[in-house]
Amino acid sequence: MRAVTGNTFPVRKQLKAMGGHWNPRTKLWSVPNERFQEAQDLVNDASGSGRSDPCDDFYPVSHDPGDDDYPIDGVGFAEPGGRSALRAATRRNPRNLPCPHCGQSNRLTPIDRARGYQCNECADRAERGFD
Ligand SMILES: [Zn+2]
Repeated sequence: MRAVTGNTFPVRKQLKAMGGHWNPRTKLWSVPNERFQEAQDLVNDASGSGRSDPCDDFYPVSHDPGDDDYPIDGVGFAEPGGRSALRAATRRNPRNLPCPHCGQSNRLTPIDRARGYQCNECADRAERGFD
């Protein structure tokens, strides 16, 4: 006989059907050695399903703020279909921040800044390879 560990309560009837015995002193079910793996899997499955919401395994990747296709705050790109990755300026997302690279004022919106962007001019210069 071998003792099964974990939360055996939900599967106690199956354990008994496998030839298991409840030991009130150790508060453990013991099952015949040849049924042990089967019994332990049963317990693991039963306690696993009650432990966490299965949805916890699926992160909503489309809500990741790093996803460029996902409009932030209802704000699309400044140049839809264009080369610029900068976001369009809106009342809630004004273009009032300086470029961290060249220091020109009113180049970036707070969303652009949060994403670590630089202004279009600097981005172009970096892409062309001389800076
Ligand atoms: Zn710049």
